[in-house]
Amino acid sequence: MTRAVRVGNITIGGGAKVSVQSMTNTLTTDISSTVAQINRLYNIGADLVRVSVPDEASAEAFSQIAKASPLPLIADIHFDYRLALKAIAAGAAKIRINPSNMGSSGIFEIVKAAKDKGIPIRVGVNRGSVKKEISPKELALLALDAAAELEDKGFYDIVLAVKSSDVRATIEAYRELHARCDYPLHIGLTESGTPKFGELKSAVAIGSLLADGIGDTIRVSLTAEPEAEIEAGIRILRAVGLRKDFVEVVACPTCARTNIDIVGIAEEIERKTKHLDKRLKIAVMGCIVNGIGESKVADFGVCGGKSQSAIFKNKEIIATVPNDKIIDELMRLVEEY
Ligand code: SF4
Repeated sequence: MTRAVRVGNITIGGGAKVSVQSMTNTLTTDISSTVAQINRLYNIGADLVRVSVPDEASAEAFSQIAKASPLPLIADIHFDYRLALKAIAAGAAKIRINPSNMGSSGIFEIVKAAKDKGIPIRVGVNRGSVKKEISPKELALLALDAAAELEDKGFYDIVLAVKSSDVRATIEAYRELHARCDYPLHIGLTESGTPKFGELKSAVAIGSLLADGIGDTIRVSLTAEPEAEIEAGIRILRAVGLRKDFVEVVACPTCARTNIDIVGIAEEIERKTKHLDKRLKIAVMGCIVNGIGESKVADFGVCGGKSQSAIFKNKEIIATVPNDKIIDELMRLVEEY
C-alpha cells in the first residue's frame, strides 16, 4: 500500500478512495470566473482542483480563491519558487512543481514552507519537459531523483507523477515507479487530446493501472473544459469498478432478433437516472437469447418480446408489459427501490 498524504479534507494514498481532479482554465486573476468554475467542478463530483499560479497577481488572487473554494486547491508552480511560497501562505492545500524548471535552492525554500504548513508536494515529471529522448524507466527514475532531493531535506509528504501523451510509455513509467517506491501516485496521460479519443486513451492508461492497483488520484487531461475531465474521470472510475454508487444500464448491442427499441430505452433510462447515486444495475435486452440471463443478474431488467416484454426484478419475472410501457415500468421500479 502507498503512503497516505492529506490534501485539505482529502486523503491521497494509503488505501483511500481514488480521488478525481482537474485544473481550472480561467485566468487565475479573474477570481469570480475561477471560483465559479471550481464550484461547477465541485457540483459534478471533483475531489480536488489545481490552479495555475504563473505570476504575482495570480498568487494574490489565489488567496481569495482558496477562501471561497469548496474544494482543496493545488497550486501549480513553474520556474519561480517565490510564487510557491506565496501560494502556500495563501492557503494552497498542496503544491505541484516540476523539478526540471525549479532550482535546488528554490526547492529547499518550498520544502521548508510546505513542512511548516503540513501540506504535500506533488513532483510531476512530464515527458514533454525533458529535452532528450528517454525511456519510461528513465522518466520514472527522474521522478525518484526529484523525490530523493526532497527526502534529503527531510520531506516525505510527496505525491509522484510521470506523464506522457503515449499510453504504453505512461503505463510502463508508472509500473516502474510503483515497483520502486511507496509514494502515492497521481496518474494520467498528459496532453491526451480532444474529448473522444483523449478519454479513450486515458481510460486505457488509467484503467490498466487502476486495475493493477496502481494509482491514488487521477486526472484526465483533455483539450476541453475541465468539467469534461471530471465527468470522464468519474466514468473511468465507474468502468473499472472503483465507484459503484450509480445506476448502470447494461444493454445488448442489438441485432436482427431485437424486438424493442433498445437504443432509445437504454438512453432514456440512463438520462432519467443520471443524477441518482444508488448502486443499481438495470438490464435492457432485446430478446430471450441473452435477455433472460442478463436480466436475472441485474437488479431490474427488461427482456424484449414482439409486442409485450418481460420485466424482471430480483431474478424473477414480475410483470409483462406492452412495449410502449417499458420505460414507465422500469422507472417505477427505480423510484420504488
Ligand atoms: S440479446 Fe437478443 S436482441 Fe440483443 S443482441 Fe443478443 S440476440 Fe440480439
